[in-house]
Amino acid sequence: MTKRDYYEVLGVSRSATLEEIKSAYRKLAMQYHPDRNPGNKEAEEKFKEVTEAYEVLSDEEKRRRYDQFGHAGMRAGQDFHQYTSMNDIFSAFGDIFGGTIFEEFFGGGARRRSSTRSPRTRGEPGADLHIRLPLTLEEIARGTEKTIKVKRYQPCTACNGSGSASGDAGHATCPTCSGSGQISQVSRSMFGQFVNIVTCPTCGGTGAILHNPCPVCSGDGRTMSEDTLHVAIPPGVQPGMEIRLHGKGHAGKRGGPTGDLTIEIEEKEHPYFRRDGSNIVYNLVISFPDAVLGGEVEVPTLEGTALLTIKPGTQSGTVLRMRGKGLPYHGSTERGDQLVVVNVYVPTKVNGHERELLRQLAESENIAPKKRRKETKDTGFFGKFRSSFSF
Ligand SMILES: [Zn+2]
Ligand SMILES: [Zn+2]
Repeated sequence: MTKRDYYEVLGVSRSATLEEIKSAYRKLAMQYHPDRNPGNKEAEEKFKEVTEAYEVLSDEEKRRRYDQFGHAGMRAGQDFHQYTSMNDIFSAFGDIFGGTIFEEFFGGGARRRSSTRSPRTRGEPGADLHIRLPLTLEEIARGTEKTIKVKRYQPCTACNGSGSASGDAGHATCPTCSGSGQISQVSRSMFGQFVNIVTCPTCGGTGAILHNPCPVCSGDGRTMSEDTLHVAIPPGVQPGMEIRLHGKGHAGKRGGPTGDLTIEIEEKEHPYFRRDGSNIVYNLVISFPDAVLGGEVEVPTLEGTALLTIKPGTQSGTVLRMRGKGLPYHGSTERGDQLVVVNVYVPTKVNGHERELLRQLAESENIAPKKRRKETKDTGFFGKFRSSFSF
C-alpha cells in the first residue's frame, strides 16, 4: 500500500506553520475519533493516518527530513509509531499533545487500561520500576554482580495480596460500575460534548469492593518495602543498555501481576581511560629523551599494569595498540584493544644547568626539525609564495 503525502493527509500546504498543522490535526482527529465512530474501521484507519502525519510534521527535524526525502526518509517506530490498535494510539497520545490537553480532548489513558483488564478475576497490574546503575570501566570489563536496594510494592503478607482480611470471599460486586470496572462520563470541551469511558473511582477498576479490607494494606493487597536484589551484569555492557528483571517491579493491587524492573547501565567517568566502543584510550606522556632513545614504560591497563615498548624516535601523537587489552565485546569472548596515545612532555620550568644543556643541544645537527625540502626554495611561484609568507 502506498502512503499518501502527509501534507495531503492533513490537508495543509507544504509551507503550513506548526499552528496550522496542529489545528488541522485536531480537527481531523476529532472527526475520526473512535468515540464518534464506534466500530468504524475506516475511521480508525483515517485516525491512524492523520496521527502519523501529525507526528512527523509537528517535529521540526522529522519534517525537514520528510520534505527532503519523502516517506523514504522516515523510520517506522522511530519517527512515528506503528499503530496496530487503538490502544497503542491512546498510550502514545500523552506525548503527542503533552498529556493534559489530550486527556481533556479524549478522556486519555483510562481507555487503554479498561480493555486489558478482566474485572474481578484480576487486580490492577503493578507498575514497572526503572533504576540507573553506574559502573566503572573495570566492572564493565570483567562483568560484575551488584547488590541493589529498591523500594517497591510487594504483596501484603497479612492478606496474601488479596486486600481482604477474610480472604478472597470478602469481595462483592462494585455498586458504582456493576462490576465492569469502568464508567461513562460526559465531559465538555471547546470541541463539544464527549462521552468518555473512565476507570471506576469506587473500585479502582477492579469491579469489586471489599467487605472487610485488610488492616495492614488498607485493602490494597500490597505494601511498600525495601527489597534487596542481586543482579549479574555480563561483561562488555554499553551505557544505555537495559537489563530487564521480570516480576521485580511493583506488585499489582489485590493480586494483580507484578511489573518489571529495568536497570539502565551508566558508565562512571574513569580517572585516566576513555572508552571508544570496545577500545580503551590512554594518554601516555613520556619525556623527550625517552621519545628519542626509546625504552620500556609501565602503563595502566584495566587489569593492572603492562610494559609497553617505546621505539627510538617515537613521535608525539603516535598511537600504540595493545591488542586484547580493551573491553570485551558484549556476548563474545573477544576483546577490543587499548590504544596508547604518546605525548612528548615539554617542561615548563628548567634550571640554569638544564637550560645550558638545552642550548648546547639546540645547536646539535639532529635536534631541530629538518628544513623543508629543496624544491620549496626553488624560484617557482610556489617557492616565493612560501618564503615571503614564512609558512
Ligand atoms: Zn493486606
Ligand atoms: Zn466500580
